[in-house]
Amino acid sequence: MKNTIEDILDKNEFSGSDIKNLLLSHGNDRTLLFKKSTEIKEKYIGRKVWFRGLIEFSNVCGKDCLYCGIRKGNKNLIRYNLTDDEIIEAARFAYINRYGSIALQSGELEGPFITGRIENLLHRIKELSNGELGITLSVGEQEPEVYKRWFDAGAHRYLLRVESTNESLYKKIHPDDGKHSFSRRINCLKNLQDIGYQTGTGVMIGLPFQTMEDLAGDLLFMKEFDIDMCGMGPYI
Ligand code: SF4
Repeated sequence: MKNTIEDILDKNEFSGSDIKNLLLSHGNDRTLLFKKSTEIKEKYIGRKVWFRGLIEFSNVCGKDCLYCGIRKGNKNLIRYNLTDDEIIEAARFAYINRYGSIALQSGELEGPFITGRIENLLHRIKELSNGELGITLSVGEQEPEVYKRWFDAGAHRYLLRVESTNESLYKKIHPDDGKHSFSRRINCLKNLQDIGYQTGTGVMIGLPFQTMEDLAGDLLFMKEFDIDMCGMGPYI
């Protein structure tokens, strides 16, 4: 017998096919889905909205993800990189205006210079805010020791979007050049969790070749991985 949307919404655990049916719902079924999701949101986080300050400090990146406007190979944009003092001033603005946390985000670069630069920024931001401003990092794949140094310097959340948990789809949207490995992405997420970060991930919606089963699988992955934050956005 086919489950109605009400039947599915009454469950405590969703299967992949339940999630697919929810994603495909429309009309009154979709209204029921939104009503249920609002109830759950209000139960756990109430009706408050928390402001977070996003500081996109650089669009310089060493990678070439095929969907990304700031990929290394794109010559049709102006690259920028804020100075440390500009970043500190943005963090100070967030602190003075009582933001609970900031996120430092950039393209992905690895190496001693960027490791030290971010570590130093973390110390400075912790100092200027008396340790009160939470700091999220979103600066890509790094070695576990680097994640640990940044955690010890004051970062407590990390966003690393997996973009798709279907490995074959992941491979379609990344070049096969040795720098874009699905297994490394998953290992990075595990390392972040092990170190103690509140770990966030997410995927794109509407990727070429993506199916509803893929999206249902992505949501199950996030549940099983026990992620703390989820960022999902449309593929444009
Ligand atoms: S690593 Fe991030 S910023 Fe760099 S190309 Fe890929 S998606 Fe874009």
